[in-house]
Amino acid sequence: MKRHLDIHKDDTVQVMLGKDRGKRGVVLRTVPATGKIVVKGLNMAKRHQRALTQKGATKVMQGGIVDFEAPLNYSNVMLVCNKCDKPTRIRKTTLPTGQQAIVCVKCGEIYERVKEKV
Ligand SMILES: [Zn+2]
Repeated sequence: MKRHLDIHKDDTVQVMLGKDRGKRGVVLRTVPATGKIVVKGLNMAKRHQRALTQKGATKVMQGGIVDFEAPLNYSNVMLVCNKCDKPTRIRKTTLPTGQQAIVCVKCGEIYERVKEKV
């Protein structure tokens, strides 16, 4: 099931639930198919990695514990408005000029994206 996520890459989000509650970070990637979001530096988890010695490989990967960002549930994070600096939801609106825009539900200001997917 594919669902629309109103959070995109490079947005700042705040975690509302879980061990990282209250922390903020920048979205690295979203996984709309599963409703998951990967946020830089948040929800860190450890993965055990075995040492790799591939035949013909020039580089030997070291084994050990690797830190990585585990995906968060979309429902556990909220977008942070870049105008009022509060966790919020956004809604779509049409400007008097006819242009589509997204606005912050809290302050009503237009939410500006670094990169808007058209
Ligand atoms: Zn706002």
